[in-house]
Amino acid sequence: MTVESFDGLWTAIEPVGRDGRTGGYRRFAWTGEDATLREWFAGEAAARGLDLVVDRAGNQWAWWGDPDSAGPAGGVVVGSHLDSVPDGGAYDGPLGVVSAFAALDALRAGGFEPGRPIGVVNFVDEEGARFGVACAGSRIITGALDADRARGLRDGDGIAMAEAMARAGHDPAGVGPDPETLRRIGVFVELHVEQGRGLVDLGRPVAVASSIWPHGRWRLDLAGEANHAGTTRLADRRDPMLALASAITAAREAAAARGCVATIGKVRVEPNGVNAIPSAVRAWLDARGPDEPDVRAVVEEVARAAAAGAAEESFTAETIFSVELRDRLAALLGDAPALGTGAGHDAGILAAAGVPTAMLFVRNPTGVSHSPAEHASREDCLAGVAALARVIEDLAGGAG
Ligand SMILES: [Zn+2]
Repeated sequence: MTVESFDGLWTAIEPVGRDGRTGGYRRFAWTGEDATLREWFAGEAAARGLDLVVDRAGNQWAWWGDPDSAGPAGGVVVGSHLDSVPDGGAYDGPLGVVSAFAALDALRAGGFEPGRPIGVVNFVDEEGARFGVACAGSRIITGALDADRARGLRDGDGIAMAEAMARAGHDPAGVGPDPETLRRIGVFVELHVEQGRGLVDLGRPVAVASSIWPHGRWRLDLAGEANHAGTTRLADRRDPMLALASAITAAREAAAARGCVATIGKVRVEPNGVNAIPSAVRAWLDARGPDEPDVRAVVEEVARAAAAGAAEESFTAETIFSVELRDRLAALLGDAPALGTGAGHDAGILAAAGVPTAMLFVRNPTGVSHSPAEHASREDCLAGVAALARVIEDLAGGAG
């Protein structure tokens, strides 16, 4: 039963937004592809007799049982997101939504009667691929993203989020914090494909998340002096590209020494000519790690190597998922290992807003994510569904 339901759900959305040439997915918020996926979600909810609710940000919630009948305990919510990064993989997001429906099917086939309402969620715009802010759907309802700022965010074609929402049939005027929706979430468990090789190394199919690493973005402004690449003696040059090279090397070395990761993945060079010594280089550093002091130290070392300041553009402190919940789920799942992650998730946003939250990770054989190479074996996906079903059964306390 689980097998057929998982396969059927997976197959239905597999072609949506897939580039036939690269195999990568382009499923951006409030586009035609997104609309197809939202229709699919609504259809699967209806097919199971679940009540569909769309919140102020446009997140979709499918409820089994009345979420307002649960009182302060709230409901048990599972799910994830259906959007993707440009040329993303098939699993990041959709695996959590598909597994949620499949887990409900497995429980129902076994005659399970929930003692609490159960919700399946599709968070809108998790990747921020179109409007630049990740986890926009969960940030809006928790108030972490200001409603006016959200409405005014523009995509690469200059279309504002408000306009994109309106075109897709969602009223942008209603965008804003949504305490009513949050009140219904007693506990949220997001199943996600692992975006690293932790489970491969451990030889296990499923883990629980321990935390989301502190992470941030910093900008380095490196000044130089434009001059001719042929006629300027080396001794007379002020070449900011050398500072950039030092920064890149330092990022790698400092991160390795402190158990962090650090990346300079975006660079702007002025005037960007082959035969011109650059007048200025602007580079962006992304640094993450298990401990904030180490992350901060990496940033300082990079700045020192570049002989420049590192301007902080964003920083998110460590998200620690509920320890009690994590331990409970780990015990439930045969002593499942606990893994930290360097990637952000809606689960992290909800945890930061005070919602008891946990995550399950499913093994990814290559560890590659945000790429068409992202993968999870069918066997491991089914192990993930079984784990999620077990978790729902435990948390939603059956009548029997
Ligand atoms: Zn994701």
